[in-house]
Amino acid sequence: MRILKHIYLYRERSRIGDCNTYYLGGKYNILVDPGNPKFIQSKIEEMEREGVDIKQVRLVINTHAHPDHSAANNFIVKLSGAKIFVHPLELRSFEFNKIIARFLNIEFSDFKSSSETPKEEGIQILHTPGHTAGSISIYLPHSKTIITGDLIFRGAVGRTDLPGGSSSDLRNSLATISKLKIAYLLPGHGEIVSGEKEVQKNFKKVKELVKF
Ligand SMILES: [Zn+2]
Ligand SMILES: [Zn+2]
Repeated sequence: MRILKHIYLYRERSRIGDCNTYYLGGKYNILVDPGNPKFIQSKIEEMEREGVDIKQVRLVINTHAHPDHSAANNFIVKLSGAKIFVHPLELRSFEFNKIIARFLNIEFSDFKSSSETPKEEGIQILHTPGHTAGSISIYLPHSKTIITGDLIFRGAVGRTDLPGGSSSDLRNSLATISKLKIAYLLPGHGEIVSGEKEVQKNFKKVKELVKF
């Protein structure tokens, strides 16, 4: 589904074991969090119906390395030759991610990530730890859009009880992003939040929950 001119959402196909996938088109051709390989074909078909060509993807960015976000990475690489970027701190939790993948019945294989943070004009990669140590958010100031992974959702925040999680880091990250101009908050799970007022309301609600 196209949300903005060059920003597309492919909703999670399952509440557990998959995530919202976003595509940044235009000059970018970046796929964010391909999710679970079991559902990637259905997302690709939806892309094709909207005129998005998966072979054009240059870069896959993971908001973090949990398998419900990253397990389909290699599938996309095979189709497009794209590079992958995940924050280096995420690579430490690979062994744990294999365990969650087995637990969630997600087919997961190691992937190679470039160690350099991608530099794309008009895109800011923000290190926003808390849910995991290497969680990032992707901010597009021109369209006041942020992709938050599992940092913040509509009415909730990501869990911090898994390896690499930290509730104090999560509060700091929320405080940081809540200062940005945001009209579209695009989370890793659940519904998006659109409109500056709605986004502010969402931060307020979440602030009551976790006191950041
Ligand atoms: Zn996660
Ligand atoms: Zn997730």
